[in-house]
Amino acid sequence: MGSSVASALARVDAGSLADIFDDRPNRVQHPVMQCVQIKPIAPQPGGQERHRVIFSDTKNYIQTMLAVAQNHLVEEKILRRGVLVQLLGYNANNYKAKRILIVTEIKVLEEYGEHEKLGEPKPFETKPEEEDQKPNPSAATSQGFYGNKQEQPKSRAMPTHAKQSSSAHANIYPIEAISPYSNKWTIKARCTSKSDIKTWHNRNGEGKLFSVNLLDESSEIRATGFNEQCDLLYDLFQENSVYYITSPCRVTFAKKQFSNLPNDYELHFEKDTKVEKAEEQDGVPQVRYNFTTIADLQSVEKDTTIDIIGVLKDIGETSQIISKTTSKPYDKRELTLVDNTGYSVRLTIWGKTAASFDVPPESVVAFKGVKVSDFGGRSLSLLSSGSVSANPDMTEAHKLKGWYEDQGKSNNFATHANVQGTVSAGGSRRDPFKTISQIKEEQLGMSETPDFFSVKASIQYIKQDNFCYPACLSEGCNKKVVEIDPGQWRCEKCDKTHPKPEYRYIMSVNISDHTGQLWVSCFDETGRQIIGMTADELMEIKEVDEKKLAEIISDSICKTWNWKCKAKLDNFQEQQRVRYQITSASPMNYVAESQKLIDLIKQYNID
Ligand SMILES: [Zn+2]
Repeated sequence: MGSSVASALARVDAGSLADIFDDRPNRVQHPVMQCVQIKPIAPQPGGQERHRVIFSDTKNYIQTMLAVAQNHLVEEKILRRGVLVQLLGYNANNYKAKRILIVTEIKVLEEYGEHEKLGEPKPFETKPEEEDQKPNPSAATSQGFYGNKQEQPKSRAMPTHAKQSSSAHANIYPIEAISPYSNKWTIKARCTSKSDIKTWHNRNGEGKLFSVNLLDESSEIRATGFNEQCDLLYDLFQENSVYYITSPCRVTFAKKQFSNLPNDYELHFEKDTKVEKAEEQDGVPQVRYNFTTIADLQSVEKDTTIDIIGVLKDIGETSQIISKTTSKPYDKRELTLVDNTGYSVRLTIWGKTAASFDVPPESVVAFKGVKVSDFGGRSLSLLSSGSVSANPDMTEAHKLKGWYEDQGKSNNFATHANVQGTVSAGGSRRDPFKTISQIKEEQLGMSETPDFFSVKASIQYIKQDNFCYPACLSEGCNKKVVEIDPGQWRCEKCDKTHPKPEYRYIMSVNISDHTGQLWVSCFDETGRQIIGMTADELMEIKEVDEKKLAEIISDSICKTWNWKCKAKLDNFQEQQRVRYQITSASPMNYVAESQKLIDLIKQYNID
């Protein structure tokens, strides 16, 4: 197999590494590179193996860390030295003078074959020192890398503020003391979060605003800049930096519905409000948290604002939704967090935070200001006044990191969705693993709303009669068609007649594990997976050779899969019974599965 060196060379996006790290506007979103080396890294005790992979864009090469989720590509030898790959997911970090690329998702372009090193790539040079000192605008979200706390950008003495000694701010007020009755004051506070700029249009005109949360030893307060102040101050404020803010500045009653801060007042910047970045960044506390564990969310009331810390188990893709109030699109992204209570929870982030979220999976992340909702049991939504901190340097974070490396990585997590039994369809739930006896004992699917779960089980039997049905060929229509004349398959819904149907699977499958057995129904997509061919192909075989059909089906049994399943009540001939539908099947990853079992066995403390 393979293609010519010339076509492989032409496919590689030469120079794309430099484009990625300098974030050039014309850069290729999913660049193609050559894999030039793969090295395993000794796993942490109890951890999974990781791989360092060197990718070359033919001008430069760089050593990258491959996400564990891509390990199967190495294990199955799909990712090999010399092949071309397309980087679908990656995070580029400038850490001190180092450039780090974490690769979360790749596609191997097998059609280009394997080649000796293409081009004459050079090591990707580190940046010159001064360039590296540029404050990183996304500092708040890319604060750390594998537990290392990233240094705050050095606050260089800015010429305009160079003479400003702290004695000029002798009369510092604590935030707690600010009220509409205090008139001359300066506060020294850390900006713990900064909103996006929001614009509004109404009968009285239009405008824009942004808000920051400010924190000192005594309290917190929210401050908002409108219109000109928005233009003037937006860029000056950076999350995690410390500022002097000096009156005149309006103090008004806080609009509690927009804020989660424990302050009765809030600030509106005025024309003469003075905001200066403090030279010394110390002596002002970092963000304060009051964490709720994921398990305890169960007992938290809907709409309460809480803080939460957990390990990023899953990062969804960014999607766009249209705001009902402004009719404008904004970004949305779902994260899955786990912690050592054995629970997982979904947390949605919005807007710029969603679009620019670049924290690698398996990082510890602390969220301040998230709203608890009862959508799908319990889920979380980051408020616009909330903040995100990756790998924060605090005891809770170190503890979680240790727990995750040690055992959390291979745990299965319960979701609140399941406990509550109020799951809504769709979304990226983590459906808890159940054994077949648990499925029955817990009466999953017996309540008003369906239950979702995963089960590891082997196929015992597949019913051979009616394994598929003739479906309509029209796009998006899977309705059953009827042959009204030879070569005339009619769909009632589309009101159309097709020369032939498309056969789709609908199979009754008996699956079993060490605790029992269960009849489940499989639809087309899963059917293709477990049979290894389409229902059309299988029908063709059936027509010429029934014996061959039986062979193919018997080849599919005795195989073990991880099934995702939905259980719900069904009325059938005036009888209620639970039906189990397979929503997806994934083949066993024996390495990951063994790791899971090893951890389970360890819990029995057998020496
Ligand atoms: Zn149709």
